[in-house]
Amino acid sequence: MKKITIEDIDVYGKRVLARFDFNAPLIDGVIADRTRIVTALPTIKYLLEKGAKLIICSHFGRPKGKRMDEYSLKPIHKMLCDYIGEMPFFDEAIDSGTIEASHKLKNGEAMFLENLRFYAGEEKGCDDFGQKLASLCDVYINDAFGACHRNHASITKTPKFAKESGAGFVLKKEIEALGDNLFGDVARPFLAIVGGSKVSDKIGVLKNLLKKTDVLIVGGGMAFTFLKALGYSVGKSLVEEDKLDVAMSVIKAAKDRGVRLLLPVDVKAAEEFPDPIDKAIEFDNVLIFEIPDDKLGLDIGVGSEAIFSDVIKKAKTILWNGPMGVFENSAFAKGTMAIAGAVAYATDGGAVSVAGGGDSAAAAVQCGVDKRITHISTGGGASLAFLEGKELPGIAALNDKK
Ligand code: AMP
Repeated sequence: MKKITIEDIDVYGKRVLARFDFNAPLIDGVIADRTRIVTALPTIKYLLEKGAKLIICSHFGRPKGKRMDEYSLKPIHKMLCDYIGEMPFFDEAIDSGTIEASHKLKNGEAMFLENLRFYAGEEKGCDDFGQKLASLCDVYINDAFGACHRNHASITKTPKFAKESGAGFVLKKEIEALGDNLFGDVARPFLAIVGGSKVSDKIGVLKNLLKKTDVLIVGGGMAFTFLKALGYSVGKSLVEEDKLDVAMSVIKAAKDRGVRLLLPVDVKAAEEFPDPIDKAIEFDNVLIFEIPDDKLGLDIGVGSEAIFSDVIKKAKTILWNGPMGVFENSAFAKGTMAIAGAVAYATDGGAVSVAGGGDSAAAAVQCGVDKRITHISTGGGASLAFLEGKELPGIAALNDKK
């Protein structure tokens, strides 16, 4: 870990602004998933125990620079108080009253700021907004991995203006898990499983992974663009016609580099896409050269499950990105379940596994294997950008250790 982290900074008696990603799903005003709050607790508790004067901030939803009640962080603040005790909430993130309050904090006390995205300067990445936030603190801690791919003021500007800055525990773990575990000196065979809906969303990831992996499994909706590029007739399955050449270039690159590329050999095909998504619909398990013209593939088939699982169980390093089918519908979740089970099995046997990007985390939880995977990334877009080999601006903005 070359970046300065929370453990490298003496925070005692200092005002510490900690940026989190509390962008939790909200259903009818109720927080539907506490994961992002719970994962932030080690950093928060550490800072308070070390005697910091803690100022907590985050974004929430997409209010686009306007104050909107439905995007208030008040429900998150309330929930966090249940975990760490009462602390005041500030409607204004950067006015003189807030700055004054930050100075009045005692060691080991915390305050909580309203949604940073209520300010237009946040998403525009304005120096001015970043500097105003920095005036609240002596030390800036970034623990918002899920926002690190964005050039937003509190992510890339505030650390430049703060006297000291570093990564929190969540960010540190993500950098280590996605960086060292997958792109460092990895145990082989190194297998990547890439699924999800579109080739266009994953092309950067595929190209970067080809430089490093021994085996690449492509499943999910995106597999049909590959199959069509190879000349199969895929019926009404999801195909990105303008990405056939891209799929072909990945197939060629895999061949040139000696990477074993596995595509489904069979699929579960139905007449329609389930709408609503949990609608029960009829389907057949068909071989890929038998997909009827009036049907579309919604999951990998049982043969593919067996072949993929066998390969996965022998891998020593595994990246899993994206579901194998329309896993939101139980009839088409079986392929993803099989893959998840095989990843968990390999991990039980000593493999290092990482699930990240897109819906992978949700799929791992749905399949009940989240506790058996080495690391589940908290970031969607940020994980994808990382896996594409890009330097995330939020990480770049933090200083390296001397
Ligand atoms: P992503 O966010 O790229 O990981 O894609 C996840 C989405 O891909 C999920 O909502 C799945 O329902 C969808 N998906 C997976 N397989 C298919 C498929 N065969 N056809 C259409 N959508 C799919």
